[in-house]
Amino acid sequence: MAKTHATIPIFIPHLGCPHRCAFCSQISTSNTTSMPTDTDVSEKITSYLSTMPVSVIHREVAFFGGSFTGIPSEMQRDYLQAVDPFLKKGEIKGIRLSTRPDYIDNGKLSLLREHGVTTVELGVQSFKNHVLEQSRRGHSVSDVYAACRQVKDHGFQLVIQLMPGLPGESVEDAIHSAKEAVKQDPDGIRIYPAIVLSGTELERRYRDGTYTPMTLEEAIARCVPMYEMFTTNNIPVIRLGLHPFDNAHQDAIIAGPYHTAFGFMVKSRYRYRQLANDIFNYCKSDINISEGLHIHIPEVHAEEYIGHRRENILMLQRNYPQYKITYSITSVDSPLFEGL
Ligand code: SF4
Repeated sequence: MAKTHATIPIFIPHLGCPHRCAFCSQISTSNTTSMPTDTDVSEKITSYLSTMPVSVIHREVAFFGGSFTGIPSEMQRDYLQAVDPFLKKGEIKGIRLSTRPDYIDNGKLSLLREHGVTTVELGVQSFKNHVLEQSRRGHSVSDVYAACRQVKDHGFQLVIQLMPGLPGESVEDAIHSAKEAVKQDPDGIRIYPAIVLSGTELERRYRDGTYTPMTLEEAIARCVPMYEMFTTNNIPVIRLGLHPFDNAHQDAIIAGPYHTAFGFMVKSRYRYRQLANDIFNYCKSDINISEGLHIHIPEVHAEEYIGHRRENILMLQRNYPQYKITYSITSVDSPLFEGL
């Protein structure tokens, strides 16, 4: 299917931030070292547009990597005005940006509204104060609630960014954060499991033994119920896991659950749980299963249901050794089972 949406990313690493949060190194995660000028912004948009397929009808510009509303107002205007000609010509449909929850107020949101911003992404990370404190965020959960409400009240799309696995966070805290995020009625969620990046406070704590990152398996297990909660509440999870690091920045990853296929792994585990649960209920029913079980897998999410190298099917076969489990990919909306 042809791509219809595209985001033109403009990275402003740490611009507007009051300090460095314990886990953060935007230089590493954005693969960017220099700060763009408004001319750079304009040239980057022109360059992206020149190579964009005609099928891409929804084009956005995104300012990521810093605290946009913490930048002096004049500079915010300069950046946003660089996008303005493209908005006026209809070549760009909207602007999204990320910022801190404690850098939101009516004046800041009015400025964004005047300049065509459509989506505000809040780096919430956690809805637990002790996690925010240990991560040196410098704001509290009450700032988060207030910011979410104001962003919605001003008519912006709200995206909440969460970071499971931060210092002091338990599995229950992560579930709590997901539940509270759902209550804010966001239009999207990004989930970035915490990893230890070079030069951060977290690296120092990791090296002196006062912080232990999640393993990859722990991170998948922690993110699956979060993903499930958002999915069942029809809230799109627009990102799961950090964007892939290029080769030059691989050394910045010191420890933690970094994997380029992290999002697929979480979604695939979620689908496995769905299948296992459905099979459990199916087998409890009166349906006669003598020889085996055939699963009709929805083609729309077939790869996630089947898993990498058929691992979900193999796991089902291990857990139900009494049945021969077969499957086919069909146009059903959700998995269907057939006793053989
Ligand atoms: S997490 Fe956000 S506020 Fe903290 S240093 Fe990074 S970009 Fe700045």
